[in-house]
Amino acid sequence: MSPAQPTPRAEPSRIVVVVADGLRADVAAQAMGYVAALLEAGQARATRHDSGLPSLSRPLYATLLTGRWPLAHGILSNQQVQACGATLFDDAHAAGLRSAIVAYHWFCELLGGPAFAPLSDRRRLPEGRGIVAASWYFEDDYPDSHVIADAEALRLAHEPDLLFVHPMGPDDRGHRFGGESDEYRMVARRLDMLLALAVPRWHGAGYDVLLTSDHGMGRDRMHGGTGEAERSVPLVWMPRPGPGVAALLELALPAAQTGLRDFLQRQRQARRVAG
Ligand SMILES: [Zn+2]
Repeated sequence: MSPAQPTPRAEPSRIVVVVADGLRADVAAQAMGYVAALLEAGQARATRHDSGLPSLSRPLYATLLTGRWPLAHGILSNQQVQACGATLFDDAHAAGLRSAIVAYHWFCELLGGPAFAPLSDRRRLPEGRGIVAASWYFEDDYPDSHVIADAEALRLAHEPDLLFVHPMGPDDRGHRFGGESDEYRMVARRLDMLLALAVPRWHGAGYDVLLTSDHGMGRDRMHGGTGEAERSVPLVWMPRPGPGVAALLELALPAAQTGLRDFLQRQRQARRVAG
């Protein structure tokens, strides 16, 4: 009797989701030339969303993860340490997929367990959500270059189906210098240069890529309210070139920030068809 053949895996539906903290839509459009090149070449599509309210990080991390507005999921303050219920990671887990995440430690808390403790929890794995590798940082000025490199290290070691990456440079620089500052624009330019190195690697390894943000940044070095600068965020969809890319490019982009979770489900369905 011949040895049992391994069960073939379903067609890959791999994706990298980059949530650039505090990246406002107008600055992303003007300062990120690599992303703009993909858009000009018809290899990517983009839209803008008004963030949920309050336009604060922890409530909007929960919105991106759960597909629910802050008033619905109930996390309304950055000081509110609690889990956020079912997330896009649970959807991937239910589909038999494996996830990895590099993010600020508030994401760790949203995904369950006690308050984050730096000396014991740097690699803490949230339970029951299909997350096989995690790296949490806890300083707001942790460099975006290190976040991307951490993500690549996890990807190469674990080959996750969903890789969630959360650089925080725009938010940090925006709080120090304001959303109209040269320093804020520079951090967007630098993030674009990092993506110019990372996205082709991700595409080459079979990943689609999506870039978005939680909120924008006001001239007054803050966000939280309704001003366009603090609320308008980009969403850029960069499916990997190759077979099926035309259909993937035609996917309807999320109509609002609550639509990311549903979009990832539709990306998986489309990849199953397109291969
Ligand atoms: Zn902030």
